[in-house]
Order: sequence, then structure tokens, then C-alpha cells
Amino acid sequence: MTAIKCQRCSRITWNAAVCNYCGRIVCEHCIKSVKKVKRKDIGKLYICKDCWSNLEKRKLFRNGIPLIVGIPQLEKGKK
Ligand SMILES: [Zn+2]
Ligand SMILES: [Zn+2]
Repeated sequence: MTAIKCQRCSRITWNAAVCNYCGRIVCEHCIKSVKKVKRKDIGKLYICKDCWSNLEKRKLFRNGIPLIVGIPQLEKGKK
């Protein structure tokens, strides 16, 4: 396992997630909220603090609709 640099605050984190609304890898401090969804291919929705301040994105999040799905960046080192 490798440490990941948060793309929002540049903090090094072991506990990163991809924001489903801007696609950035963000650390636990930058995640504003997490929501479980029924779709198995997604599992959980993450929204960062920046996207949370965007009403359109926040609305989608509340409705359990992701804007960006399946970002492969967190998968380990494929070229
Ligand atoms: Zn961060
Ligand atoms: Zn975001």
C-alpha cells in the first residue's frame, strides 16, 4: 500500500477517496460527506468540500447520483 497525496490540500494520506463530482483524489479531511448507494459498482459516493459548495453537485449527491464514476486512479500502478 502506498501513501497518496491529496489533490485538494496536498496532505499525504493513507485514507484517500475519489470525489464522485470532480474526480480528484482527496483525503479524509477534504471529504465533506459519504453516502452509501445501492448500485454495487459504486458502493459509496464521496463528495469533497469544494463540490459540496456547488448546489448542483450537492443536489446530485443528495439524490445518490454520481457525476464521475469509475476513476481508475486509485487502482494500484497500472500504466
Ligand atoms: Zn485533503
Ligand atoms: Zn469534488
